[in-house]
Amino acid sequence: MHRGELSKVLADGVDIRFGAQVSGLEQDEGGVRVALADGRELEAEALTGADGIHSAVRTALFGELPLRYAGYTCWRGLARVDQPAGPGVLSERWGVGTRFGMVPIGRDLTYWFATENTPAGGVDGDALAEARVRFEGFAEPVGTLLDATEVILRNDIVDLAPIPSWGRGRVTLLGDAAHAMTPNMGQGAGQSIEDAIVLAVCLGEDLGASFRSYEAARMKRARQFVDRSWSVGAMGQWENGLARWARAWAMRLTPESVMASQLTQVFRVLVPELRSAGHR
Ligand SMILES: Cc1cc2nc3c(=O)[nH]c(=O)nc-3n(C[C@H](O)[C@H](O)[C@H](O)COP(=O)(O)OP(=O)(O)OC[C@H]3O[C@@H](n4cnc5c(N)ncnc54)[C@H](O)[C@@H]3O)c2cc1C
Repeated sequence: MHRGELSKVLADGVDIRFGAQVSGLEQDEGGVRVALADGRELEAEALTGADGIHSAVRTALFGELPLRYAGYTCWRGLARVDQPAGPGVLSERWGVGTRFGMVPIGRDLTYWFATENTPAGGVDGDALAEARVRFEGFAEPVGTLLDATEVILRNDIVDLAPIPSWGRGRVTLLGDAAHAMTPNMGQGAGQSIEDAIVLAVCLGEDLGASFRSYEAARMKRARQFVDRSWSVGAMGQWENGLARWARAWAMRLTPESVMASQLTQVFRVLVPELRSAGHR
C-alpha cells in the first residue's frame, strides 16, 4: 500500500496539530507536561511517544540511545509499472552484497527497493543515476522499473537494538520509537499498527497500569521481528561465494510447508497478545 494512502486513511477524522515538535517532557502523578521546540507547553493525562526512530520521547525517558548501522544502504522508488513480476507477485533478487526487490502496490504502481553493502553516510547527487550504475547487473524488469521511476529515496539502513523498557509512569512508546527494525521483513509499519491495536485494547482507568500491560503484551513479538529482520538482512547481503551457494541451496530445499508456517507466524496477528492482555 502506498504510504500516502495509508496516512490518509489513518488521519481521516483525527485532530492533528502540525508544527508541534516535542523537545522534552516532565511527569508526576497528576499527568504529563510536554515541552515543544517553539517554547509552548502541552499538558495531558498521559503520553504515547509514536515519534519514530529518532524519538524525542524515548530520549527524554532513557537518554540518547545509539542506532546500529546494518552495513548496507537502501535505494527505494515508485515506478509507473503494473505487476512487473506477474500478477500479485512480490519478488526479490539476491546478488553479491546487493538485493533488488519489487512489490506491486496497485493503480499501475510498483514499489521497488535495492540494497548494497557500503559505508554509512553516502550522499547522491542524482539518486536515480546512482541506482542505475549500482544495479545495472540485475536482469529485467529492473531496467524497466528504473526507467519508469517517478520518486526515489536513499537511506542508510539502521535499527535500534532491543531496549529493556518502553515506558515509565504515564508515558509509553509505540512503533519505531520503541522497536525500530531493519526493513527486511516489511514489518516496521505493520508492527507499529499492531502496537496501536493492542494499546487501544489495554487502555483502562489506570493509564500507567494500562501502558505496562500493553508493553508486556507487545515487547516479545516486536523484539522477534527486530532480531529476525537483522539476521535476514545480514544473510541477504552476503558476498562470500560459498556462503551464497549454500544460501541458494538452502532456499531451494526449504519445503513450502516450512515457508508457509513462517508466514503464518508473521501474520498470526495479535491473538496471543490480546489473550495475554486479558481479552478473549
Ligand atoms: C528503506 C525502508 C523500507 C521500509 N519498508 C517497510 C515495509 O515494506 N513495510 C513496513 O511495514 N515498514 C517498512 N519500513 C519501516 C516503516 O517505515 C517504519 O517502521 C514506520 O514508518 C514506523 O512508523 P512510526 O509511526 O512508528 O514512525 P514514523 O513513520 O517515523 O512516524 C513518526 C512521526 O513522528 C513525527 N515526529 C518525529 N519527531 C518528532 C518530535 N520530536 N515531535 C513531534 N513529532 C515528531 C514525525 O514527523 C512522523 O510523523 C521501511 C523503512 C525503511 C527505512
